Amino acid sequence: EALSNQIAAGEVIERPASVVKELVENAIDAHATQIDIRIVKAGLDTIQVTDNGDGIEQDDVDTAFKRHATSKIHDRNDLFRVRSLGFRGEALASIASVADVTLETSTGEVGTAVHIKGGDILDQHLEAVRKGTALTVRDLFYNTPARLKYVKSYQTELAHIVDIVNRLAMGHPQIAFTLKNEHGVQLKTAGTGDLQQTIAGIYGVSVAQKLLPVHGETPDFELDGYVSLPELTRASRQYISLLINGRYVKNTQLNKAIIAGYGSKLMVGRYPVVILNLQMDPLLVDVNVHPTKREVRLSKEADLAKLIQATIRTKLAQQNL
Ligand code: ADP
Ligand code: MG
Repeated sequence: EALSNQIAAGEVIERPASVVKELVENAIDAHATQIDIRIVKAGLDTIQVTDNGDGIEQDDVDTAFKRHATSKIHDRNDLFRVRSLGFRGEALASIASVADVTLETSTGEVGTAVHIKGGDILDQHLEAVRKGTALTVRDLFYNTPARLKYVKSYQTELAHIVDIVNRLAMGHPQIAFTLKNEHGVQLKTAGTGDLQQTIAGIYGVSVAQKLLPVHGETPDFELDGYVSLPELTRASRQYISLLINGRYVKNTQLNKAIIAGYGSKLMVGRYPVVILNLQMDPLLVDVNVHPTKREVRLSKEADLAKLIQATIRTKLAQQNL
């Protein structure tokens, strides 16, 4: 059991940013409206994620750390209609097998605190905690030196963390996010539900103000977001964010559709700033392709690509471009 958790951890938890992603996704799934992330030494020393979500019932705390224990799907069919970001029940078990983890949680009644290290429960007691959950992960990869060797510089690992929090925040403008490290606040979003305001918290007000709102829909898809004018470009694709039902995904075809929407207006090697939130029936999205759920398989991908390209093209045409 301990070993298989460590093997699973190898697939799900590649680096500190993977832990941040899994913990933040859990907070989102628990209906949090405020998520505070604190990291020390790019997460290798400490990662703490505190939310004001549903919390975990006292009796369910043990189960939450068991592999394949998820409260989010109940039968095989649910697997095809995943609404939540998590569903594999692997993250907490994996993280607890390669780090020192403290969980404090409450559903509003009495709270529970658990301390787990290398998969073993060291202590569990009741304590007064406000509603919500705080997970503190210390000494990540302390018992997997091979994994630790692959971790890059603090700067690189921090960049990965900021990147994933950015995307999750853009996919959830109704949630107020903060990200702090030992140098101060790295990110703060308002959580008002206004995507442009969220983007301002991430890329700055001056960028956010220059973006154009886009909206498009077909019977299958709904698309909302912001796109930059062709003059506001960047040297990398990094500023393109695609979120499907609140999940940040990478998809080459859809990226191509975005670029195609700009036609010849983009210079070679330049990319726009684009944030697209796509809503669709979960039945159209297969998130079971990869353990990190970053890659997804879409039915009707070509239709969606067409919608994206047409929506951007129309928007730019309205600006007489
Ligand atoms: P999954 O998200 O795939 O269900 P995880 O290992 O990430 O699996 O989490 C296991 C379970 O622990 C979740 O199904 C959920 O019931 C509970 N849980 C984890 N984090 C939180 C949280 N922040 N708030 C409430 N419940 C949580
Ligand atoms: Mg999860």
